[in-house]
Amino acid sequence: DDSGKPFILNCVKTAEKQMFDDNVDHEYAPISGTPAFCKASAELAFGENSDVVNNGRNATAQGVSGTGSLRLGAAFFSNFYEKSKVFYVPTPTWGNHGPIFKHAGLDVKSYRYYDPKTCGFDFNGAMEDISKIPAGGVVVLHACAHNPTGVDPKPEQWKEMSKVMKEKQLYPFFDMAYQGFASGDISKDAFALRQFISDGHEVALCQSYAKNMGLYGERAGAFTIVCEDKATADRILSQIKIIIRAMYSSPPIHGARIVERVLTNPELRTMWLGEVKGMADRIITMRQKLKDGLAREGSSHNWQHITDQIGMFCFTGLKP
Ligand code: PMP
Repeated sequence: DDSGKPFILNCVKTAEKQMFDDNVDHEYAPISGTPAFCKASAELAFGENSDVVNNGRNATAQGVSGTGSLRLGAAFFSNFYEKSKVFYVPTPTWGNHGPIFKHAGLDVKSYRYYDPKTCGFDFNGAMEDISKIPAGGVVVLHACAHNPTGVDPKPEQWKEMSKVMKEKQLYPFFDMAYQGFASGDISKDAFALRQFISDGHEVALCQSYAKNMGLYGERAGAFTIVCEDKATADRILSQIKIIIRAMYSSPPIHGARIVERVLTNPELRTMWLGEVKGMADRIITMRQKLKDGLAREGSSHNWQHITDQIGMFCFTGLKP
């Protein structure tokens, strides 16, 4: 908050009070988390009326927040994805992507993403590099609010990327750590993911509730593989469970229970949508203030990129 103090969302506080009053137990969660949590997470990502969730085409398991979901996904691909053991990440990317994927035995290569000249997206560079990736390669995409640059492709550019990846038979692996936290609108922030789905991609997806519900230390997240049909999704989930069993047996329950309540209780959900928008708007306002302040102090430099960028990170373009 404005005093630099950790902020607890009111929807989270209310959910926790309800849980206390309901006297929830401390038994183990199922290996892949509760079905209600997984369904609510998939619906949040793909949309309420998505044919993915309606037809049970999603193999979704709770992960240990975003990081654990990425690690679980990496383990699955390392074990079962025959076409390639290379994950292609944007340059730059979140500092933990490389270590997570390598820890699972995968190879990590990169594609151009950030253009220091414009402090924006190097669309041509990204398209050129992506189109040269051998068929079957896995392309890691930040669904929104790219970490660490704050630079996201525009909707039209996402469409082009989806198209070329389909043509080249590349596998989209989405890291969505900031749904709602970027624009303040959960659907807008899921645009890229949903575009790829409507273009017929079978994607992998990692979700985190650290930022958008402020549940950092509760380690609530989810890993999904979208499949051709429910039968395939069931088989895949069964293998995912075998991996989870060997890694940590079952996921932590407290944060996941909060998420489940917030997403499925209409009052709490409305409260959350308002609060996540509040957090996003605060960041958007801060960017505008920074840009205005620079102009007010007499800078004639073009700082447009500060407000073009989105989410909690900003590549200012300042020299060392
Ligand atoms: N992916 C990205 C791009 C991130 O920025 C983060 C958080 N810094 C994560 C995943 C995972 O965060 P967590 O494990 O706390 O959910």
